[in-house]
Amino acid sequence: MTIMKSEIQSRSTEERVLPVTLADIKRAAARIVGRVTHTPLVYSSNLSERTSQPVYLKLETRQPIGAFKLRGAMNAILSLDDAARKRGLVTASTGNHGRAVAYAARELGVPATICMSSLVPANKVEAIRMLGAEIRIVGRSQDDAQAEVERLTESRGLTPIPPFDDANVVAGQGTIGLEIVEDLPDLTTVLVPLSGGGLAGGIAVAVKALKPEVRVIGLSMERGAAMHAAIAAGKPVAVREEETLADSLGGGIGVSNHVTFTLCRNLLDDIVLLTENQIAEGIRHAARQEHVTAEGAGAVGIAAILAGKVELSGPTAVVISGGNIDPILHQRIVAEATT
Ligand SMILES: *Cc1c(COP(=O)(O)O)cnc(C)c1O
Repeated sequence: MTIMKSEIQSRSTEERVLPVTLADIKRAAARIVGRVTHTPLVYSSNLSERTSQPVYLKLETRQPIGAFKLRGAMNAILSLDDAARKRGLVTASTGNHGRAVAYAARELGVPATICMSSLVPANKVEAIRMLGAEIRIVGRSQDDAQAEVERLTESRGLTPIPPFDDANVVAGQGTIGLEIVEDLPDLTTVLVPLSGGGLAGGIAVAVKALKPEVRVIGLSMERGAAMHAAIAAGKPVAVREEETLADSLGGGIGVSNHVTFTLCRNLLDDIVLLTENQIAEGIRHAARQEHVTAEGAGAVGIAAILAGKVELSGPTAVVISGGNIDPILHQRIVAEATT
């Protein structure tokens, strides 16, 4: 009884302020259970020794598509009514979000169309085609591909599944926070890769509702950290997109952002930026010491610890968000000498 009462109270407090609540994330967890992996939280003896604090890695690399984005896509698709599912889904991502939508759609028997420009490399196109999605090649830029998403939404009634700025997507990503608290109840800090903020925002809602004293720290690359720039400016701003090892962290947060900016501004305790060398070091350490293949975006938490850019003060969870990195690039980074 007491538990229920306090839950309702905390929920009503949250709902007045934030667009995603703990209750949304619990509903998402119930919806996607059995369709996504409750990923392992593994102790890192190397990072624990270095920091004198217990450090654990949350291995989202173990999701069937090699990254966490399956959680949000699965929750968003399962939240649609039958008519919308029958008409099908559309998105313009060629990265982990595109894979997630294609995979979840196939699992659920829903048609999915992924729009991409003619400049997308053949291996990325094939990876998504192999997951069963229909590919539509249009124009020569990501903007052209996004325009096609809007056209298909209008003309065919397809449902767009956004990569981060959507309450159902954020709630799905937030289930990582529930799992971390369940598996590591005396948690004090979570380190989370940060781009559009669906991942960090969702995790922060869950973790802080359950354990308000836990610090949630977002990690981005110095080159084009969109959420960091937006929070500094007090509103979403355009950032110049630059090439980075953390390619899954590239891109803007959308000038009319309506979910993740509010969450990240209100809930993140800090945002730490990493150089390209530090990110490479994170990838290398993950491979050599932790036996984990992490892409650049997935390695920023380790990178921040190795660079001494975060101070740990107790049990710490480091979200390794994905492992989809070009194998040749990975091999080259891992073989390089430590800088
Ligand atoms: C998308 C992605 C991120 C960033 O998630 P946001 O919700 O956009 O902040 C981090 N790591 C990987 C591997 C990703 O694919």
